[in-house]
This record gives sequence, C-alpha cells and structure tokens, in this order.
Amino acid sequence: MIVVAIDGPSGVGKSTAARGLALRLEVPHVDTGAFYRAATLAVLRAGVDPTDGRASAEVARHAAIGLRAGRALLDGEDVEDAIRGPEVTASVSAVAAHPEVRAALLERQRAGVRAHGGVVEGRDAGTVVVPDAHLKVWLTAAPAERARRRAGQLGRTAAGELERLTAELAARDDADAVQMARARDAVVIATDDLEAEEVLDRLEAMARSAREASGPSEEAER
Ligand code: C5P
Repeated sequence: MIVVAIDGPSGVGKSTAARGLALRLEVPHVDTGAFYRAATLAVLRAGVDPTDGRASAEVARHAAIGLRAGRALLDGEDVEDAIRGPEVTASVSAVAAHPEVRAALLERQRAGVRAHGGVVEGRDAGTVVVPDAHLKVWLTAAPAERARRRAGQLGRTAAGELERLTAELAARDDADAVQMARARDAVVIATDDLEAEEVLDRLEAMARSAREASGPSEEAER
C-alpha cells in the first residue's frame, strides 16, 4: 500500500503527474480539485451564492460527489466537462475557501485512498487530506512557464494570451493562498525544464523507494 500526496499551484503539471503516477503504481488517483469543482457546480445549479459559506457547505454536504474512471460524478451524472468550464473555474476558489465546505468534502477525499492507497492531488493533500502519506511532493514552475503550458492546453494562442493567462494564474494563486499549504517534509520539484515523462520517472522512483522504506510488513500487504 502506498499513499502519495502531490500539491502545488495551477499550471505546474500536477494533474498529468498525479494521473500518470497512479497509472504506473496501479493505484487510484484522487483529484481533490475535482471535488471542489463538482461542489461548485452543485452550488451554482442550486442558485446559491458561492461567497455564502454556510449555504455552500449545505449544498456540498448533500451532493453525491465522486470520481469514476477519472471522471467526476455529481448525483450520478458525469459532470467532468462541466466542472472544467469557465463558470465553475470562476467560482471554485470562493467555494473552496469556506472551511465548512472543506470539512464537508474531506472524508470523501480520504475515502478514495483508504482501501488500496493512491495518489492524492491538490493544494493541501500533504498537510490535511493525507498527512501520513509515504511521499509528499510539491511541484512548482515559474509563472511564465505555467502560462505557456496552460495556453497550450487550452489552445489559446492569440496575441496577448500569455499575459492574460499569467494574470489569471496570479489571481488564482491569490484566491487559493489560504488553502495552499506546502508540507514541511514535501520534496520540491521545479518542473520548468522537465518533460512530463521526466517528472514521472522521478516521482515513480521516489514513490517506489518510499514504499520499500515503509517496511516489509506493508510491502507484504501489496
Ligand atoms: O486543481 P484544480 O485547478 O482543479 O482546483 C480547482 C480549485 O479547487 C483550486 O483553484 C482551489 O481553489 C480548489 N482546491 C482546493 N484544495 C484542493 C484542491 C483544489 O482548495 N486540495
């Protein structure tokens, strides 16, 4: 059994790394951001004000949110595409900032790794969701590099897009500052000059040695 926490801001290659590592280790991938995005979609659909913590938490508590085969579900509906859209992206930081919302989602995020371990991805995976993870990683990259990657993902190549995306990422960092927490024992990897495959190779090697270091009794459980 192995649990890995991968945290860091938007645009550093977190999702690619977490998804890829989970595949290589053959364990579940728990994208905690998807939980906040699905809760935000539920809040918006309910007509609730995303800045209202109590009302947002009430919606989050009653929403059936889960992940299946890498896709987010809300009350049984596949909402993976909807939660990546601009409406949810614009409101998710406000919804996720409420401690009551975080409390409402925490145990469901933890449940994803309880049976078979897993790779947990987010902003506070190493500090709050799985603080006992065998390996904690904090990914970083320079703002210009993050914007360049995001532009590639979104296909936003028009003039001025890089500046706009850099500003958007900076605004999201500010909005997420409260929930963004680097564990003291996290290994920091700057991904600027690394290909996705190189990041994955490093993570896999670290995860495998962390698993070995965790002792023969845990090894035998695999
Ligand atoms: O990772 P992603 O960009 O999908 O996350 C969306 C938002 O969810 C973040 O901007 C942040 O506000 C929130 N989030 C969080 N804590 C996490 C993961 C995501 O607050 N562990």
